[in-house]
Amino acid sequence: MSSTVLKLSKSEILKLKKYYSNYLSSKKVPYSEFSAKKNGINITAYTSGKVLFQGNNAEKEAARWGNTEASTTKKDSTLPVNFASLSVLGSDEVGNGSYFGPLCVCAAYADKKDLSALKQLGVKDSKMLTDDQIRRMAIAIKELIPYKLLVVNPEKYNEIQPKYNAVRMKVALHNQAIRVLLKQLAPTKPDAILIDQFTTEANYMKYVKQETERVDQKIYFTTKGEQYHLSVAAASIISRASFLEELDKASIEIGTKVPSGAGKPSDELAAELLRQGGLNLLRKYAKLHFANTKKAQKMI
Ligand code: MN
Repeated sequence: MSSTVLKLSKSEILKLKKYYSNYLSSKKVPYSEFSAKKNGINITAYTSGKVLFQGNNAEKEAARWGNTEASTTKKDSTLPVNFASLSVLGSDEVGNGSYFGPLCVCAAYADKKDLSALKQLGVKDSKMLTDDQIRRMAIAIKELIPYKLLVVNPEKYNEIQPKYNAVRMKVALHNQAIRVLLKQLAPTKPDAILIDQFTTEANYMKYVKQETERVDQKIYFTTKGEQYHLSVAAASIISRASFLEELDKASIEIGTKVPSGAGKPSDELAAELLRQGGLNLLRKYAKLHFANTKKAQKMI
């Protein structure tokens, strides 16, 4: 799988359109002159003059039309074809935008043979599911497929956070969850690994270099990863269920409902905890580096 981009003139693009006339696709890609699919290669000509060739042997196909050496050839910049039907290890995290509660990272492996069962369970974008659906679904998913869940509770988070900024912490956790799950799966190897993107690939690489052990298989990154593979959707549901469970536990300990997110209710509860037991109490439940801490301190 590779992709190649050519920069062509308007008249050259019309020539291409004629050449691929039997392969044109009816789906209109935004800002494109045309798009076509021939022998598994997707060809998209943009109004800017850029023509993108994607798929196996994309470079060869592009070479018909121009000097590909002079053009930008990028390998593996896009997901493999038929990505949704491959055996994929996907990972996602939950809780990183919430003042109270842990940061949960989960890697889940959805083998081809389990995809229809996951679909039947109703696995999809967790943002479209209610909390109760998420809790129930997580139990069923955990029985069905292999996964590795890492939960960093606020107390631990506050210890690590001064050394690891939020992005680096997520990189380390995703790396760890994926590594452990790959070991668990061996000798089975996923067709691909996909992380629901939370930072640029360059940033991920920069931080992961600081980890002693790393995943050696190629990793794909895309935002809205749960739309590209059920493994990411499953990982997201398991993470969210765990996050909800931890919030519930905290609610019981504190004796009042602990809010998720980082809004006014979080400030108010933080202020109350500060009154009761100061920072030493608050640090057990909240991610102290959030602005909510200062706001709460001002309130008391
Ligand atoms: Mn995500």
